[in-house]
Amino acid sequence: MEVLKITPRGYCYGVVDAMTMAKRVARDPNVPRPIFVLGQIVHNQHAVEDLESLDIRTLDGGSRVDLLDQVPDGATVIFTAHGVSPEVKHRARQRRLNTFDATCPDVTKTHTLILEKVRDGYSIIYIGTKGHPEPEGAMGEAPPGRIELVSTLDDVALLSFAPHTPLAITTQTTLSQWDTADLIDAVQERYPNAEVHNEICLATQMRQEAAVKAAQDVDMVVVVGDRRSNNSNRLVEVVEKVAHKPAVRVGSVEDLNPDWFRSMDRVAVTAGSSTPTQVTRGVIQWLEAYDPANYPKPASLT
Ligand code: SF4
Repeated sequence: MEVLKITPRGYCYGVVDAMTMAKRVARDPNVPRPIFVLGQIVHNQHAVEDLESLDIRTLDGGSRVDLLDQVPDGATVIFTAHGVSPEVKHRARQRRLNTFDATCPDVTKTHTLILEKVRDGYSIIYIGTKGHPEPEGAMGEAPPGRIELVSTLDDVALLSFAPHTPLAITTQTTLSQWDTADLIDAVQERYPNAEVHNEICLATQMRQEAAVKAAQDVDMVVVVGDRRSNNSNRLVEVVEKVAHKPAVRVGSVEDLNPDWFRSMDRVAVTAGSSTPTQVTRGVIQWLEAYDPANYPKPASLT
């Protein structure tokens, strides 16, 4: 089976910077211990385990404000690439915690945009994924009532801004370009004067465009990425919805099922921007060595 390696794939510069910062903090003997990360540094279990091996503990499973409450006084805390709200920074300062901020500059850009627009009298419609930390941080830049989260077309129908409210539309950085364009159109249909500030980052756009293009020439696209990685899930989605080809997300080589590839001649591999290179390499090597003869057909397929 031929294996096409899609480029660009894998770590983006924001993730590289976040991992580098965390490792530098871990190696600095002057940094107060224990060291915590507020949420997964990037959404990938392998990256989290990498930091655990350096004695950096990941707090997970709640809002950033709630997670901060678990950090003991005198400890060090790292903010993740997804960014945090001003409230989290304020509370950390009040408690005199030692903080390091690994927020990606592309996320910071959206925070700044929201702040400026609110100051100029706008209300904000933020297109993003419910429950993801990036919207949580970015939306914290606006006072309650001045920002609404939109994830679906149903959410657009529920928006209740008065018709002539000055509005700015902005977005999470890791969304599907195509779905976001549909949501922006729907919002503009309701609010024709709303300004559009599409903040999907270049790394996300390039990975999506490359995956859609490569999908035309293969039987299937394998996306290597964590189940919680928004950009990895969006890669699967754009291959299926835009290129109309099958796609599957795997966390690592262990998730590959030999039966998926029995009748395939060509597959393409890409990886989310939070997927470590060695994890993707393992998947590529397995696929390149794949020979259906080595895997007896299960009874259900015979
Ligand atoms: S995916 Fe984009 S926004 Fe997220 S860390 Fe990478 S470059 Fe930054």
